[in-house]
Amino acid sequence: MRAYQKLLIASLTILLCGPAAAQFDFLKKALENAPIPGKAKTALDKTMDVAEKTKEIDEPKEIAIGQEFAASLLGAKPLLNDPALQRYVNTLGRWLASQTERPDLPWTFGVLNDDGFNAFATPGGSIFVTKGLLARMRNEAELAGVLSHEIGHVIRKHYLKAIQSNAVTGLGVDLVAENINKGPAELKTFAANIFKDVYAKGLDKDDEYEADRVGVVIAARAGFDAYGLPSVLQTLQSQNPQDKGFSLLFETHPTPTDRLDRLTRAMGTRFESSTGSAGKPFSERSREFSH
Ligand SMILES: [Zn+2]
Repeated sequence: MRAYQKLLIASLTILLCGPAAAQFDFLKKALENAPIPGKAKTALDKTMDVAEKTKEIDEPKEIAIGQEFAASLLGAKPLLNDPALQRYVNTLGRWLASQTERPDLPWTFGVLNDDGFNAFATPGGSIFVTKGLLARMRNEAELAGVLSHEIGHVIRKHYLKAIQSNAVTGLGVDLVAENINKGPAELKTFAANIFKDVYAKGLDKDDEYEADRVGVVIAARAGFDAYGLPSVLQTLQSQNPQDKGFSLLFETHPTPTDRLDRLTRAMGTRFESSTGSAGKPFSERSREFSH
């Protein structure tokens, strides 16, 4: 099973590697003429005390933990067998990630064969969205908003904070540090053991609000309509939290109304004059990525 999961990760990486941002060059050019408002940049560049909280987890360890989480996620939900769609989502995701302060992480984006509405990030930059989520996106800017929210969790190391939080792992800070500082094999075992707790309990509410704010800035920097993510939150507002397809997302996140209220307050009027694009229709994208 373990070898199979590793093979999946390896094949995903090979399948998805390619000229990441080539297809999005037009957006790069558009951006040159449309600088993102200075205040938004400050929000993204704001430093937090995460360095202190996550200091024992250096980048190689962060990536190793993330690979183990990704293998566990893929063990539960396999990838969708649609290479064109996988290439498209990976290209879009990498283009968005290239706009952040951590462009050199091994960013990999994939679509899970699952009808529920969800998105997952792992430390180090593996990000997955479900088939059910893609089916409910009304335009590319909405998908860019969702992917950017997940990218926000990675660049701000929210999962590393969760690992070190007693509330999630049930372990004291010292015990977590002890496990993290052992060899690579022990680190992998530790990550596999805490995977369920971390993803079932979800992240800190404030980290979710922060990922929303960071996500809006990344999507706007990448040339997309900054209101893509708020628009997805509006869609979520109209869903029944008991609906099986949405229940995990509702259990692990603050309510869409709270998120939308805070996000629109944080955005204020600063994005009103930005000229972000709604992107291309998915039908057009699937043609572009099908060869
Ligand atoms: Zn989130």
